[in-house]
Amino acid sequence: MAIEKYAVIGHPIEHSKSPLIHQAFARQFNKAIVYEKVLSPLDGFDATLQRLRAEGYVGANVTVPFKFEAFNACDTLSARAQAAGAVNTLTFKGEAIVGDNTDGCGLVNDILTHQHTLLAGKKVLLLGAGGAAQGAVLPLLEQKPLQLTLANRSVDKVQIMADRFASAAHQTTLQVRTFADVSEAYDVIVNATSAGLSDSPLALPTDIFQAETLAYDMMYGRETPFMQQARGAGARVADGLGMLVEQAAEAFFLWHGVRPATAPVIQSMRQS
Ligand code: NDP
Repeated sequence: MAIEKYAVIGHPIEHSKSPLIHQAFARQFNKAIVYEKVLSPLDGFDATLQRLRAEGYVGANVTVPFKFEAFNACDTLSARAQAAGAVNTLTFKGEAIVGDNTDGCGLVNDILTHQHTLLAGKKVLLLGAGGAAQGAVLPLLEQKPLQLTLANRSVDKVQIMADRFASAAHQTTLQVRTFADVSEAYDVIVNATSAGLSDSPLALPTDIFQAETLAYDMMYGRETPFMQQARGAGARVADGLGMLVEQAAEAFFLWHGVRPATAPVIQSMRQS
């Protein structure tokens, strides 16, 4: 039987850990797969997809900056991809491209499983209004927090997000704030901004962090100013490595129909 071929498409792509993660998952099931990094030209995403399909690839993950183009390229979208407005997992089924978004689910699974933190009945603050934040809203709401506050530098984008998700909020109180206007303590604070990439601090009051607060930065690989602020205030701190592995596990499940163990993969990636 031919070995199934998968890829992660991005620009840049050299930094991607997805091949390591998917190969580690495949080994758990004694399965041989090909999983490659594909550098797509910035103006050539659709052509890259066509090439992969012609070469018999089964599916692909999509990373920066193509998640919105991937959304537009799909013939069928999962409910969570529609909610996120972005796609990070593609499956090629005959002539059709099926799109899903596993980022938000990866975040929630990491918080629940590896950070040992419940979201039900809790006060949650989500920082940012980009693709990652949008993808996180529905999976967070599905956990039935008491309150979900959406905050960004300016309020206009988070107001649009809140309006979009209002009908999914049910018993959760949905609020919008600017960073400077966030005033109360939270159980869980998720940083979905890319401010850490430029080592920029967020203008957040320090008393929103308490000893029991989980301060979660979606970025991984280094301690961001957000993580430093939270740690300084005595909060528990986590980076986004677990989210990365968990979103990959969900994609692996979509493609292979089996759920890999994530804890050993997170542990070995952290050690390396
Ligand atoms: P986007 O570019 O779509 O959104 C970036 C957001 O960050 C915007 O809301 C923007 O605010 C805000 N922002 C950027 N710079 C600053 C700053 N200096 N101060 C305050 N706010 C700022 O990025 P994504 O949503 O795709 O990604 C966000 C982060 O999540 C990245 O660090 C990415 O690496 C990480 N991520 C991690 C994943 C994982 O698996 N661990 C998966 C996906 C993403 P404004 O709206 O005002 O411009």
